[in-house]
Order: sequence, then C-alpha cells, then structure tokens
Amino acid sequence: NAKTSGRNTFRFFDPLLQKMMEDRACMLDRLRKAIENNFMALHYQNQILVNRHQHVVGVEALLRWNDPEHGMISPGEFIPLAEESGLIIPLGEWIMREAVKQLKIWEDDPVKKDWRISVNVSYKQFEKDDFVSLMESILQEYPTAANRLRLELTESLLIKNTEEALHKIRQLKVLGISLSIDDFGTGYSSLSYLKQLPIDELKIDQSFIRELTTNRNDVIIVETIISIGQKFGFEVIAEGVETEEQYQKLVLMGCEYFQGYLFGKPILPSLL
Ligand code: C2E
Ligand code: MG
Ligand code: MG
Ligand code: MG
Repeated sequence: NAKTSGRNTFRFFDPLLQKMMEDRACMLDRLRKAIENNFMALHYQNQILVNRHQHVVGVEALLRWNDPEHGMISPGEFIPLAEESGLIIPLGEWIMREAVKQLKIWEDDPVKKDWRISVNVSYKQFEKDDFVSLMESILQEYPTAANRLRLELTESLLIKNTEEALHKIRQLKVLGISLSIDDFGTGYSSLSYLKQLPIDELKIDQSFIRELTTNRNDVIIVETIISIGQKFGFEVIAEGVETEEQYQKLVLMGCEYFQGYLFGKPILPSLL
C-alpha cells in the first residue's frame, strides 16, 4: 500500500493530472458564476402511462447549464463537482423552488394541472439537517399540492444512515411529497430497506433498458424489478425508453410508466 500511496503523491506532478486539476478549479469557478448569473435552467421530460402515448402523467425536471462560452453542459459533468464543492446546496434549493413554482403555474393549465414533477435530489442535499424544513418552507412559499411533487432519491443515499433517512422520508410523506428510487438496481445496496421505506415509485435504470430486446440478462433483471415493485405496491417506471420495441417488451412485462426519447426529450416548460 505504501507503494500505491507513494504513487498517489507523485501523481500530483503528472502534467496531465495537473492540467485536470486546473481545469477543475476553472470549472468550479465557471459553475459558481453560472449559478450567480442564472445560466441554469430546468428542462422537463414527459412521463407517460402505459397504452396512452399522448397521455402525460408527469415530468422529470432535469438541470441544464447553458454556458454562453461553452454551450450546453450536461449535469453528469457538473453535478459531481457541485456536490464536492457544496455548491449543490444553493443550486439544489434553486432547483426545488423552480420546480415547485412550475407546479404552481400549471395549476391554472387545464392539461398540466394534474402533472407531477419529479426532482432529483443529491445525497448532499438530503443529508442536511434542514432538508425537510426547507421543503416545507418552499411548499409554503408556493402553496400547491405537495402530492404532485416527487423526489427522486438514489439507493446510495438510503443506505447511508438508514435510520435518519427513514425518519426524513416519513416526514416528507407527512408533508404529502411522494418518493421515487432512481436508477434502481444500480446502487451498491441491499433490498432490505424496501420493506420499511414508504416510497411510491421504483425507477428502472436505463442501463437495463438499452439492450432489453437482445440481452436475456437485462430481461431477467427488469422482470425482477417490475415484480418487486408490483408486489410492494410501488409504481414502476422505465427510463431511457428509446424504441417502440423496448416499449412493447416492457408493456408485456407489466411495466406501467415510461420515460424516454420515444415519448419526448427534456425540453423547456414553455415548449411542453
Ligand atoms: P437521471 O436522474 O437518471 O436522469 C435520466 C437521464 O437520462 C437524463 O440525463 C435524461 O436526459 C436522460 N434520458 C432520458 N431519456 C433518455 C433516452 O431515451 N435515452 C438516453 N440515452 N438518455 C435519456 P441528464 O439530463 O443528462 O442527467 C443526468 C443525471 O444528472 C441525472 O440522471 C441525474 O442523476 C443528474 N441530474 C440531472 N438534473 C439534476 C438535478 O436537478 N439535480 C440533481 N441533484 N441531479 C440532477
Ligand atoms: Mg432522475
Ligand atoms: Mg435515473
Ligand atoms: Mg440514470
């Protein structure tokens, strides 16, 4: 191990890594400015109910960073940095307020008034002591049906401090908020938490959907997730559905909710 750590220390002088470190600092600086200057936007992607292609039941809010210099930057690239740096806290609060505001706006829309919005929550946000009270105060600022707000949590967030997580989730349920487990089946966790968590939805990760029509193992995994969800009484939604074949296969397997390019890409709310 001494050898490994020795190498790790040495890595600092690797010019390529040094460059990456500099880029990281630069990226962090740009991220901070982007938040200040409001270069962030929430896009929304349709979620539909089985056999009703045109019938949207909700949307997932997906963050977009539109940098005037560098164009659109994917959340996959900057969310980890936002988490490490702590910027996810103010950013996450902005995202939540924006989504709840949107729910409020849609209350007057004859078509969208029943839509729910799913919001991704970082473990860094969730683990803060004031997360529940923050949610409560945002919902008070924009009084709207909390049951149309759904939080997407990841498995990793749930295995950390299970007791505390459970307590928070119960409080969120009391507020009327619904909960989804995102990227289900990809986290490093056990199934035991399912028996005590009052969640509403399992979201099948798109990595299991991609080769669903050709890969037998993915079929087995997806069947199992749907079966677990049904038996627990959770809604099951498949993400990353791109083709009619994937959709048809999922329908046969009993999946009821769908999200993916087949039904629409994430877009600005004004375009929905
Ligand atoms: P996620 O929550 O699992 O979101 C699903 C990702 O799949 C999104 O990528 C979405 O644009 C993409 N997607 C949807 N349909 C399809 C499809 O049919 N095919 C393919 N190939 N991809 C599809 P995106 O928007 O780049 O977000 C990536 C990840 O970044 C999200 O994964 C989520 O973990 C994180 N993220 C996005 N927005 C937020 C946010 O507001 N807050 C936090 N904490 N994380 C966010
Ligand atoms: Mg998500
Ligand atoms: Mg997901
Ligand atoms: Mg995913």
